[in-house]
Amino acid sequence: MALEFVRESPQRLLDRVLGAYLGLAIGDALGATVEFMTPGEIAHQFAREGGMHRHIIGGGWLKLAPGQVTDDTTMSLALGEALLEGARSGRPFDTVLMADAFVAWLRGKPVDCGNTCRRGIQRYLRDGSLSGEQNDGDGGNGALMRNLPVAIATLGDDVAFERVSIAQSRLTHHHPLSDAAVLGIGRLLRMILTGADNRAIYGFLAEWVRAWPKFAFRPYRGRASGYVVDTVQTVLHAFASSDDFEEAMLIAVNRGEDADTNGALVGMLVGARCGARMLPSRWLNRLERDVVRAITDQASALLALALDRTTETAFSAVV
Ligand code: MN
Ligand code: MN
Repeated sequence: MALEFVRESPQRLLDRVLGAYLGLAIGDALGATVEFMTPGEIAHQFAREGGMHRHIIGGGWLKLAPGQVTDDTTMSLALGEALLEGARSGRPFDTVLMADAFVAWLRGKPVDCGNTCRRGIQRYLRDGSLSGEQNDGDGGNGALMRNLPVAIATLGDDVAFERVSIAQSRLTHHHPLSDAAVLGIGRLLRMILTGADNRAIYGFLAEWVRAWPKFAFRPYRGRASGYVVDTVQTVLHAFASSDDFEEAMLIAVNRGEDADTNGALVGMLVGARCGARMLPSRWLNRLERDVVRAITDQASALLALALDRTTETAFSAVV
Protein backbone atom coordinates (compact mmCIF):
# COMPACT_ATOMS: atom_id res chain seq x y z
CA MET A 1 0.00 0.00 0.00
CA ALA A 2 2.64 2.48 1.07
CA LEU A 3 4.81 1.89 -1.97
CA GLU A 4 1.92 1.52 -4.37
CA PHE A 5 3.02 4.50 -6.46
CA VAL A 6 6.41 2.97 -7.13
CA ARG A 7 6.41 0.72 -10.16
CA GLU A 8 10.08 -0.07 -9.65
CA SER A 9 12.46 -0.96 -6.86
CA PRO A 10 13.23 1.70 -4.22
CA GLN A 11 16.84 1.71 -5.48
CA ARG A 12 15.69 2.52 -8.99
CA LEU A 13 13.39 5.25 -7.66
CA LEU A 14 16.28 6.86 -5.76
CA ASP A 15 18.47 6.63 -8.86
CA ARG A 16 15.79 8.49 -10.85
CA VAL A 17 15.27 11.14 -8.15
CA LEU A 18 19.02 11.73 -7.93
CA GLY A 19 19.28 11.76 -11.74
CA ALA A 20 16.62 14.47 -11.90
CA TYR A 21 18.26 16.67 -9.26
CA LEU A 22 21.82 16.29 -10.58
CA GLY A 23 20.49 16.69 -14.13
CA LEU A 24 18.95 20.01 -13.06
CA ALA A 25 22.34 21.23 -11.77
CA ILE A 26 24.19 20.00 -14.86
CA GLY A 27 21.80 21.88 -17.16
CA ASP A 28 22.10 25.00 -15.02
CA ALA A 29 25.93 24.93 -15.01
CA LEU A 30 26.16 24.11 -18.71
CA GLY A 31 23.49 26.53 -19.91
CA ALA A 32 24.66 29.51 -17.86
CA THR A 33 27.64 29.94 -20.20
CA VAL A 34 25.32 30.91 -23.05
CA GLU A 35 22.44 32.53 -21.13
CA PHE A 36 21.03 35.55 -23.02
CA MET A 37 22.94 34.71 -26.21
CA THR A 38 21.19 34.05 -29.52
CA PRO A 39 21.66 30.74 -31.38
CA GLY A 40 23.66 32.68 -34.00
CA GLU A 41 26.02 34.13 -31.40
CA ILE A 42 26.54 30.66 -29.88
CA ALA A 43 27.30 29.13 -33.29
CA HIS A 44 29.84 31.89 -33.91
CA GLN A 45 31.52 31.75 -30.50
CA PHE A 46 31.81 27.93 -30.58
CA ALA A 47 32.63 27.64 -34.30
CA ARG A 48 35.71 25.54 -33.52
CA GLU A 49 33.53 22.97 -31.73
CA GLY A 50 31.16 22.50 -34.62
CA GLY A 51 29.12 25.58 -33.77
CA MET A 52 27.77 24.08 -30.52
CA HIS A 53 28.35 24.81 -26.85
CA ARG A 54 29.13 21.39 -25.31
CA HIS A 55 31.31 21.70 -22.20
CA ILE A 56 30.85 22.94 -18.64
CA ILE A 57 33.34 25.81 -18.72
CA GLY A 58 31.67 28.54 -16.64
CA GLY A 59 31.91 32.14 -17.85
CA GLY A 60 28.83 33.68 -19.41
CA TRP A 61 27.37 37.00 -18.34
CA LEU A 62 27.69 35.94 -14.67
CA LYS A 63 31.43 35.13 -15.10
CA LEU A 64 30.97 31.78 -13.37
CA ALA A 65 33.68 29.34 -12.37
CA PRO A 66 33.49 26.07 -14.34
CA GLY A 67 30.88 23.86 -12.65
CA GLN A 68 29.30 26.71 -10.71
CA VAL A 69 25.49 26.70 -10.61
CA THR A 70 23.04 29.62 -10.46
CA ASP A 71 19.67 30.51 -8.91
CA ASP A 72 17.88 27.59 -10.58
CA THR A 73 19.81 25.07 -8.49
CA THR A 74 20.35 27.14 -5.34
CA MET A 75 16.69 28.21 -5.04
CA SER A 76 15.69 24.55 -5.46
CA LEU A 77 18.07 23.59 -2.67
CA ALA A 78 16.68 26.39 -0.46
CA LEU A 79 13.11 25.18 -1.08
CA GLY A 80 14.07 21.56 -0.48
CA GLU A 81 15.72 22.50 2.82
CA ALA A 82 12.50 24.29 3.88
CA LEU A 83 10.48 21.12 3.16
CA LEU A 84 12.88 19.02 5.25
CA GLU A 85 12.89 21.62 8.05
CA GLY A 86 9.08 21.51 8.07
CA ALA A 87 9.08 17.73 8.49
CA ARG A 88 11.67 17.93 11.30
CA SER A 89 9.89 20.69 13.24
CA GLY A 90 6.30 19.44 12.97
CA ARG A 91 5.33 22.11 10.43
CA PRO A 92 4.87 19.96 7.31
CA PHE A 93 4.78 21.97 4.07
CA ASP A 94 4.47 25.28 5.92
CA THR A 95 4.62 28.06 3.31
CA VAL A 96 6.15 30.47 5.85
CA LEU A 97 9.21 28.21 6.10
CA MET A 98 9.54 28.31 2.30
CA ALA A 99 9.27 32.11 2.27
CA ASP A 100 11.87 32.37 5.05
CA ALA A 101 14.16 30.04 3.11
CA PHE A 102 13.91 32.32 0.06
CA VAL A 103 14.69 35.34 2.25
CA ALA A 104 17.78 33.59 3.64
CA TRP A 105 18.72 32.59 0.11
CA LEU A 106 18.50 36.20 -1.12
CA ARG A 107 20.44 37.51 1.88
CA GLY A 108 23.17 34.99 1.09
CA LYS A 109 23.92 37.07 -2.03
CA PRO A 110 23.15 34.51 -4.73
CA VAL A 111 25.09 34.89 -7.96
CA ASP A 112 21.80 35.68 -9.72
CA CYS A 113 18.18 36.47 -8.89
CA GLY A 114 15.36 37.06 -11.36
CA ASN A 115 13.35 40.29 -11.05
CA THR A 116 10.04 38.57 -10.28
CA CYS A 117 11.63 36.39 -7.60
CA ARG A 118 13.28 39.42 -6.00
CA ARG A 119 10.03 41.40 -6.07
CA GLY A 120 8.10 38.55 -4.42
CA ILE A 121 10.66 37.98 -1.69
CA GLN A 122 10.76 41.72 -0.96
CA ARG A 123 6.95 41.82 -0.77
CA TYR A 124 7.00 39.03 1.82
CA LEU A 125 9.67 40.91 3.80
CA ARG A 126 7.57 44.07 3.68
CA ASP A 127 4.12 42.75 4.65
CA GLY A 128 4.46 39.03 5.39
CA SER A 129 2.01 38.09 2.61
CA LEU A 130 2.50 34.68 1.01
CA SER A 131 1.20 35.78 -2.40
CA GLY A 132 0.79 38.93 -4.45
CA GLU A 133 -2.21 39.81 -6.60
CA GLN A 134 -2.41 38.06 -9.95
CA ASN A 135 -0.06 39.98 -12.22
CA ASP A 136 0.49 39.92 -15.99
CA GLY A 137 4.19 40.45 -15.33
CA ASP A 138 4.50 37.23 -13.32
CA GLY A 139 4.58 34.92 -16.37
CA GLY A 140 8.27 34.13 -16.00
CA ASN A 141 9.70 30.68 -15.33
CA GLY A 142 11.07 31.37 -11.81
CA ALA A 143 8.51 29.29 -9.92
CA LEU A 144 8.78 26.44 -12.42
CA MET A 145 12.58 26.25 -12.26
CA ARG A 146 12.67 25.47 -8.53
CA ASN A 147 9.73 23.09 -7.95
CA LEU A 148 11.64 19.80 -8.16
CA PRO A 149 11.93 19.29 -4.36
CA VAL A 150 8.14 19.59 -4.02
CA ALA A 151 7.60 16.97 -6.72
CA ILE A 152 9.89 14.57 -4.83
CA ALA A 153 8.68 15.22 -1.27
CA THR A 154 5.02 14.71 -2.25
CA LEU A 155 5.46 11.56 -4.35
CA GLY A 156 2.44 9.35 -3.75
CA ASP A 157 0.22 12.30 -2.73
CA ASP A 158 -1.09 14.27 -5.72
CA VAL A 159 -3.26 16.56 -3.58
CA ALA A 160 -0.26 17.69 -1.53
CA PHE A 161 1.80 18.03 -4.71
CA GLU A 162 -0.69 20.50 -6.20
CA ARG A 163 -1.25 22.47 -3.01
CA VAL A 164 2.44 22.85 -2.11
CA SER A 165 3.53 23.53 -5.70
CA ILE A 166 1.06 26.39 -6.02
CA ALA A 167 1.90 27.73 -2.56
CA GLN A 168 5.63 27.91 -3.23
CA SER A 169 5.02 29.36 -6.72
CA ARG A 170 2.75 32.15 -5.54
CA LEU A 171 5.38 33.44 -3.13
CA THR A 172 6.91 35.09 -6.19
CA HIS A 173 4.78 34.33 -9.27
CA HIS A 174 1.00 34.73 -9.49
CA HIS A 175 0.02 33.99 -13.05
CA PRO A 176 -2.24 31.25 -14.51
CA LEU A 177 0.39 30.14 -17.05
CA SER A 178 3.06 29.85 -14.36
CA ASP A 179 0.68 27.77 -12.23
CA ALA A 180 -0.23 25.57 -15.21
CA ALA A 181 3.40 25.03 -16.17
CA VAL A 182 4.44 24.17 -12.61
CA LEU A 183 1.69 21.57 -12.32
CA GLY A 184 2.06 20.16 -15.85
CA ILE A 185 5.84 19.79 -15.85
CA GLY A 186 5.65 18.54 -12.26
CA ARG A 187 3.15 15.83 -13.20
CA LEU A 188 5.32 14.82 -16.14
CA LEU A 189 8.32 14.55 -13.83
CA ARG A 190 6.38 12.47 -11.31
CA MET A 191 5.29 10.08 -14.06
CA ILE A 192 8.88 9.64 -15.21
CA LEU A 193 10.18 9.19 -11.66
CA THR A 194 7.68 6.46 -10.90
CA GLY A 195 8.47 4.56 -14.09
CA ALA A 196 5.65 5.46 -16.51
CA ASP A 197 6.29 4.22 -20.04
CA ASN A 198 6.53 6.44 -23.13
CA ARG A 199 2.97 5.69 -24.16
CA ALA A 200 1.63 7.04 -20.87
CA ILE A 201 4.04 9.98 -20.90
CA TYR A 202 3.23 11.17 -24.42
CA GLY A 203 -0.46 10.47 -23.88
CA PHE A 204 -0.38 12.77 -20.87
CA LEU A 205 1.53 15.46 -22.76
CA ALA A 206 -0.92 15.40 -25.70
CA GLU A 207 -3.85 15.77 -23.32
CA TRP A 208 -2.14 18.54 -21.33
CA VAL A 209 -1.30 20.55 -24.45
CA ARG A 210 -4.93 20.21 -25.58
CA ALA A 211 -5.97 21.78 -22.28
CA TRP A 212 -3.23 24.46 -22.51
CA PRO A 213 -2.67 25.09 -26.25
CA LYS A 214 -0.13 27.87 -25.54
CA PHE A 215 2.35 25.19 -24.47
CA ALA A 216 2.11 23.28 -27.80
CA PHE A 217 5.68 22.46 -28.83
CA ARG A 218 5.13 20.81 -32.24
CA PRO A 219 6.10 22.46 -34.50
CA TYR A 220 8.69 24.15 -32.28
CA ARG A 221 8.59 27.97 -32.55
CA GLY A 222 12.22 28.36 -31.54
CA ARG A 223 11.68 30.86 -28.72
CA ALA A 224 13.63 30.02 -25.55
CA SER A 225 13.18 33.09 -23.33
CA GLY A 226 12.34 33.21 -19.63
CA TYR A 227 8.64 33.61 -20.44
CA VAL A 228 7.17 30.40 -19.05
CA VAL A 229 5.44 29.59 -22.38
CA ASP A 230 8.73 29.77 -24.30
CA THR A 231 10.47 27.78 -21.56
CA VAL A 232 7.92 24.96 -21.55
CA GLN A 233 7.94 24.74 -25.35
CA THR A 234 11.73 24.58 -25.47
CA VAL A 235 11.97 22.05 -22.65
CA LEU A 236 9.33 19.73 -24.12
CA HIS A 237 10.80 20.09 -27.60
CA ALA A 238 14.22 19.00 -26.33
CA PHE A 239 12.75 16.27 -24.11
CA ALA A 240 10.74 14.79 -27.00
CA SER A 241 13.60 15.12 -29.51
CA SER A 242 15.95 12.60 -27.94
CA ASP A 243 16.04 9.88 -25.30
CA ASP A 244 19.74 10.59 -24.88
CA PHE A 245 20.68 12.91 -21.98
CA GLU A 246 23.51 14.71 -23.79
CA GLU A 247 21.65 15.13 -27.04
CA ALA A 248 18.47 16.50 -25.41
CA MET A 249 20.57 18.84 -23.25
CA LEU A 250 22.55 20.23 -26.20
CA ILE A 251 19.33 20.89 -28.14
CA ALA A 252 18.01 22.95 -25.22
CA VAL A 253 21.05 25.02 -24.22
CA ASN A 254 22.12 25.83 -27.77
CA ARG A 255 18.90 27.80 -28.21
CA GLY A 256 20.51 30.38 -25.91
CA GLU A 257 18.20 32.95 -24.27
CA ASP A 258 17.26 31.47 -20.84
CA ALA A 259 19.66 28.62 -21.50
CA ASP A 260 20.48 27.80 -17.88
CA THR A 261 16.83 27.43 -16.85
CA ASN A 262 15.87 25.55 -20.02
CA GLY A 263 18.90 23.32 -19.55
CA ALA A 264 18.06 22.77 -15.88
CA LEU A 265 14.49 21.67 -16.65
CA VAL A 266 15.53 19.39 -19.50
CA GLY A 267 18.25 17.92 -17.27
CA MET A 268 15.64 17.30 -14.59
CA LEU A 269 13.28 15.42 -16.94
CA VAL A 270 15.86 13.49 -18.94
CA GLY A 271 17.94 12.84 -15.81
CA ALA A 272 14.85 11.31 -14.20
CA ARG A 273 14.38 9.17 -17.28
CA CYS A 274 17.93 7.81 -17.41
CA GLY A 275 18.78 7.89 -13.69
CA ALA A 276 21.92 9.22 -11.96
CA ARG A 277 24.04 6.24 -12.92
CA MET A 278 23.64 7.10 -16.61
CA LEU A 279 24.47 10.82 -16.35
CA PRO A 280 27.49 11.74 -18.50
CA SER A 281 30.51 11.71 -16.20
CA ARG A 282 32.26 14.43 -18.20
CA TRP A 283 29.54 16.81 -16.98
CA LEU A 284 28.82 15.31 -13.57
CA ASN A 285 32.50 15.41 -12.57
CA ARG A 286 32.63 19.09 -13.45
CA LEU A 287 29.92 20.17 -10.98
CA GLU A 288 30.98 21.92 -7.77
CA ARG A 289 31.60 19.24 -5.16
CA ASP A 290 29.50 20.82 -2.41
CA VAL A 291 26.55 21.20 -4.77
CA VAL A 292 26.74 17.49 -5.65
CA ARG A 293 26.92 16.65 -1.95
CA ALA A 294 23.97 18.90 -1.04
CA ILE A 295 21.88 17.45 -3.86
CA THR A 296 22.76 13.86 -2.99
CA ASP A 297 21.84 14.38 0.68
CA GLN A 298 18.66 16.24 -0.14
CA ALA A 299 17.46 13.81 -2.82
CA SER A 300 17.43 10.85 -0.45
CA ALA A 301 16.01 12.90 2.46
CA LEU A 302 13.14 14.26 0.32
CA LEU A 303 12.36 10.80 -1.00
CA ALA A 304 12.41 9.40 2.55
CA LEU A 305 9.97 12.15 3.51
CA ALA A 306 7.60 11.04 0.74
CA LEU A 307 7.88 7.37 1.72
CA ASP A 308 7.33 8.17 5.42
CA ARG A 309 4.25 10.23 4.59
CA THR A 310 2.68 7.52 2.44
CA THR A 311 3.46 4.92 5.09
CA GLU A 312 1.74 7.09 7.71
CA THR A 313 -1.26 7.61 5.46
CA ALA A 314 -1.55 3.90 4.85
CA PHE A 315 -1.11 3.25 8.57
CA SER A 316 -3.78 5.71 9.66
CA ALA A 317 -6.12 4.28 7.01
CA VAL A 318 -5.68 0.85 8.62
CA VAL A 319 -6.09 2.14 12.18
MN1 MN B 1 19.86 30.89 -13.43
MN1 MN C 1 18.00 31.62 -16.29
